[in-house]
Amino acid sequence: DAPRVLVTGGAGYIGSHTAKLLRSEGIEPVVYDNLTTGNRSSVRWGPFVEGDVLDTSCLIEVIEKYAPDAVIHFAASAYVGESVENPAKYYNNNVCGALSLIDACRQTGLQNVIFSSSCAVYGVPSVLPIDETLPKAPINPYGKTKLIFEHMLADYAAAYGLRYVALRYFNACGADPDGELGEWHVPETHLIPRALLAAAGRIPHLEIFGDDYDTPDGTCIRDYIHVADLARAHVQAFTHLAKGGANLAVNLGTGRGFSIRDVLRVIQETTGREVPVVIHPRRPGDPPSLYADASLARETLCFQPRYSDLETIVRTAAPFFGLEARA
Ligand code: UDP
Repeated sequence: DAPRVLVTGGAGYIGSHTAKLLRSEGIEPVVYDNLTTGNRSSVRWGPFVEGDVLDTSCLIEVIEKYAPDAVIHFAASAYVGESVENPAKYYNNNVCGALSLIDACRQTGLQNVIFSSSCAVYGVPSVLPIDETLPKAPINPYGKTKLIFEHMLADYAAAYGLRYVALRYFNACGADPDGELGEWHVPETHLIPRALLAAAGRIPHLEIFGDDYDTPDGTCIRDYIHVADLARAHVQAFTHLAKGGANLAVNLGTGRGFSIRDVLRVIQETTGREVPVVIHPRRPGDPPSLYADASLARETLCFQPRYSDLETIVRTAAPFFGLEARA
């Protein structure tokens, strides 16, 4: 029998890229998604069940029907700003939803869980690069919900034998190198898609949130990781658990940080379009600089980014914004 994985949130941005890669590796993805932010048209590589992670009995039914070897849990709300304004939504979807999922796992004997965590669990790091041993001190409800679920996984592992890999993503970006799946969020708040929209003339300009940070060019520094590399890490996490590997919480980043101006320069070089910008005040809650120490994922999961140089990121994303990359 081919291995099978339940993918909650598999109609979303990272989930759909992961479902596609799972299928190409001979693992059947069963997508479970309530379609509030996901796209039905992004579910093409296995069965689809429309359902909410808060619905434990529906999850149990699906697990009993498909008997997956693991669950990859993407289904969650993912906007930092919104989490500050509406924490109830975040605690409900991201904590209660995740609890509902692992209780369904416990009741059905499904033991392996791979979880979309975030570098937001670290808050504002005291040193860089960020390694996994640094204090976890999230500064917004979004990051807190991710950390709470990491704690829940560890406690369920100790008490019930659940096995898990928590993947702490840095800045997910880029799109399917085959051009089948794009990057879109509604609303779109992320830097690279917004910069591409501005380059394409679909919005008047990109707002740069602060150019007076204590960084070399004054703009914030982030670690941009291509969604195809993130997808690969999930497959590697599945293999790790399937082989009996230890429970893990690891960073997924490249280990390199780039400023907003670096990103805009690469967009200009790659598409030939200038990104019109307007300088705005800082966005509350933005740490000046975040980049990973990526060594633990390399050592434990053999994780090695292949698509995460800025040029490849821009090259794969640009067509979804009506832009052509230069030859
Ligand atoms: N950013 C910006 N203008 C935008 C969107 C983002 O200047 O329209 C900045 C943001 O303040 C941060 C960086 O770009 O410093 C990355 O932001 P994004 O929202 O993409 O990811 P985050 O790091 O918040 O997860």
